[in-house]
Amino acid sequence: MIDARDLRKEYGDFVAVEGSTFSVDRGEVFGVIGPNGAGKTTTLKMLAGLLEPTGGTAEIAGMDTETTEMRQQLGFLPEESPLYEEMTPISYLQFFADLYDVPGDVAEERMHETLDELQLEHKERKLGDMSKGMKRKVAIARSLINDPDVLIYDEPASGLDPLTTNYVIEFTEQLAEDGKTIVFSAHNLFHVESICDRVAIMNEGQIVARGDLDELQAEYGETRYHVYTT
Ligand code: ATP
Repeated sequence: MIDARDLRKEYGDFVAVEGSTFSVDRGEVFGVIGPNGAGKTTTLKMLAGLLEPTGGTAEIAGMDTETTEMRQQLGFLPEESPLYEEMTPISYLQFFADLYDVPGDVAEERMHETLDELQLEHKERKLGDMSKGMKRKVAIARSLINDPDVLIYDEPASGLDPLTTNYVIEFTEQLAEDGKTIVFSAHNLFHVESICDRVAIMNEGQIVARGDLDELQAEYGETRYHVYTT
């Protein structure tokens, strides 16, 4: 479903990502883990067609991810979602539903259903007055407004308290059970081990290991594995 080949991103002389190659099967949850600055966001943005690679290719369902048509079929959750502070969750989601040409009645049903599933309270509150956890739930609902098959979630649990973190992880797990193909980045092994089928471990712009979690622990040993993933 997703095919990243030799992705590379340079900023001037600095190489942020180099030789990033992996594939994700339909219905799979693929984790990209690594410390700050490892190149996770850069890789995910190239995958989502939001950042032009300096080299290499990213395809989803055989289509170049830089095409508008492809981007319409993706749900991207940025690490920090730019929310419009004066909007309510409903007006915000309506705005994106219009951008994606989701018919009015479908959008209406989908946004209410998703916000209810996410147990978002105070739907009438302005986004600027919401807590970080509430804002993240709205951002997740936004990533689902076009009912995409593929979700690219950049550190969806970052900065959340343990309870909300669990909530977001469990919700993502449910999306996977519903058949979505998901790429999910995290600093922390704890955030991925319950939901990811396979992971790539990044460090200093490169994928240093990939496989399922048991294979990686066996190959790299508990200690080295944890150095990369905590
Ligand atoms: P974090 O966990 O902190 O979000 P990350 O693994 O997502 O980190 P990236 O944001 O992909 O890492 O950044 C990889 C490297 O590229 C970092 O050293 C970062 O400073 C650098 N970088 C990212 N964007 C730019 C940019 N626009 N110009 C220059 N360097 C950049």
